Amino acid sequence: MKRYRVKPGSKVDLKEWDPNDRTEFKESKEEGKQMLLPLNQKIDELQELLYAEHRHKVLIVLQAMDTGGKDGTIRNVFEGVNPQGVHIVSFKKPTLDELDRDYLWRVHRHVPGKGEIVVFNRSHYEDVLVVRVHELVPKEVWNQRYEQINNFERMLAEEGTIILKFYLHIDKDEQAQRLQERLDDPQKRWKFNPGDLEERKLWPEYLNAYEDVLSKTSTEWAPWYIVPANRKWYRNLVVATTLIEALEDLNMKFPDAPEEWSKIRIES
Ligand code: ATP
Ligand code: MG
Repeated sequence: MKRYRVKPGSKVDLKEWDPNDRTEFKESKEEGKQMLLPLNQKIDELQELLYAEHRHKVLIVLQAMDTGGKDGTIRNVFEGVNPQGVHIVSFKKPTLDELDRDYLWRVHRHVPGKGEIVVFNRSHYEDVLVVRVHELVPKEVWNQRYEQINNFERMLAEEGTIILKFYLHIDKDEQAQRLQERLDDPQKRWKFNPGDLEERKLWPEYLNAYEDVLSKTSTEWAPWYIVPANRKWYRNLVVATTLIEALEDLNMKFPDAPEEWSKIRIES
């Protein structure tokens, strides 16, 4: 999905990116939901090939504002994919042990090995997002991190990791609706976090921090995709299609097995 890829070096103004865009899939919501199933199956097939070939490593980074849909994206895009084939890693507030070390320490140990797909639900980008917005470290410190992150990701890419980064783009009204839904529905109320209201007040600061992330860290080796995410079905289709395109570009093949194996007959 080239349309949503942030051109390396370009300056991102999120006002110019429509969270309701539906250029790539003009179908109805019902049709759009149906279209995900074959994509799930395709991802499952490609995952098996990735595992069999044991060559490439795939890292998917998901970032979004609160209620942006990271969890739903993971649930929907990987539905029906072999659960052994995908590892999800969620990054929460760092522990004291983690805070005592550099911010990439806890991240690096979770990067994918050969044949693996790892999804980061939040990531090292929190160290230039929440950390910047709440001034958890001085500007001199977080300001150096963009370049450090680019270098880290370039190293991973040079060592054979395919990196796809998705920013799930919702607007402030959509967040209001989703928070309200959580409150109104007894089965969703547990998801409500009063802290999210405090973060919501910082919406402009977060937007600013995201614009810097998207402008400074979309690279040839680890591009960002800005996914229109007000519509959940559309968001799922964009993420699934982008992943499929990236996996298909690898031209993977099942490893050769010795020809004579095809002649073996197992006696019962
Ligand atoms: P949900 O969508 O289910 O609420 P979540 O990803 O928001 O999932 P939470 O446990 O609500 O999960 O929040 C995790 C919190 O950890 C977020 O507020 C995030 O900003 C914070 N966090 C993650 N990484 C860091 C970091 N490096 N420094 C400080 N806070 C961080
Ligand atoms: Mg949360």
